[in-house]
Amino acid sequence: MNQNLGVYIHIPFCARKCHYCDFPSRERKLSLRDEYLDRLIQEMRGFTRGKKEEANTVFIGGGTPSLLKDEQLRRLMRSVKDNYFLSDDCEISMESNPESLRESFLDTAIASGVNRLSMGVQATQPRLLSILGRRHTKEQVQAVVAMSRKAGFQNINLDLMFGLPTQTLQDFENTLNFALSLEVEHLSVYGLIVEEGTPMFAWVEEGTYFLPSQEEERAMYDLALKKLSQNGYRQYEISNFSKPGKECRHNLGTWTRQMYHGYGVGAAGLIAKDIRRQNVLSFDDYLLGKEAEIQTLSQKEQMFESLMLGLRMTKGVSKQVFKEYYGKSLKEVFEQRFDASINKGLVKETNTHVFLTRRGMDLMNQVLLDLMDDDCLK
Ligand code: SF4
Repeated sequence: MNQNLGVYIHIPFCARKCHYCDFPSRERKLSLRDEYLDRLIQEMRGFTRGKKEEANTVFIGGGTPSLLKDEQLRRLMRSVKDNYFLSDDCEISMESNPESLRESFLDTAIASGVNRLSMGVQATQPRLLSILGRRHTKEQVQAVVAMSRKAGFQNINLDLMFGLPTQTLQDFENTLNFALSLEVEHLSVYGLIVEEGTPMFAWVEEGTYFLPSQEEERAMYDLALKKLSQNGYRQYEISNFSKPGKECRHNLGTWTRQMYHGYGVGAAGLIAKDIRRQNVLSFDDYLLGKEAEIQTLSQKEQMFESLMLGLRMTKGVSKQVFKEYYGKSLKEVFEQRFDASINKGLVKETNTHVFLTRRGMDLMNQVLLDLMDDDCLK
């Protein structure tokens, strides 16, 4: 189960905070990028201690990594290569926002080995982009996808969102059509979660904006399933669709509990099957050198995590792999709870796997709550 190793790097800077965002991102403060990279590189060196392991995936996430200067990205990638052997087919992904991508940066990324680019597009209508607090335009997205192709990117993902305030099914269909017209290799389609403490939460609470109904949201998701499948994208996770062979290997590793090392503020890593390493969430504390917290996971926690993450994938959880890994079958561990979810039509079982049904995907939180009850863990 755990032959591959991933590296996650968090770049927390954003030009402006989006109205729905509760990620640990640092608005503006771009003047601290060098200082932050110094600390991150020091953290990586300190953790690896000269023991160069082979990494199969690297994911530079954010925040907005495309806000790094060209030289800063070069420096970061040099440091990754100083501390890890990158496998020949290493997938190196980087997140970006369309308005911050520049030609020289894309060239630098390619020259540094980045081979997968992910862009936060979310929607194409100026009205929706403004509600979200995003600053790009549809035309900009079109231009930067073309620019990325020219720079040499052959693996591009676009993030899209549904369930947005005032969004209609037609709006979402137009966004999907636009994304399809760009012929990218991967699409991530997320439902908006309105998080407490964000401006979006306040607007929805006070009635400034209304969210689509559950039925409307479901219709949007169904539309994505239908249109993307008609256009050659295979759904492999609740929110992720790809052309054959273009699944995000880093995320697949995370969902199957492969080991990964995480660096940067708020980053987590799974450094042994029972050890999670979690960095501090405070940017200032991180810069001051506060050490990551080491958490030991009980076998129960590991088993639940395998199930929780595995059920996100359309193929579900392999019964055989689970048994080999934990020495107990899924049935033995989650017996009555599984039956309850199967009877409710939320989970299905074949000879080899258990997986969520379409309804189970809508109600995944319910499934997890059902399975999480401590009584089900023997
Ligand atoms: S770009 Fe991403 S991380 Fe930054 S504020 Fe927007 S949603 Fe949050």
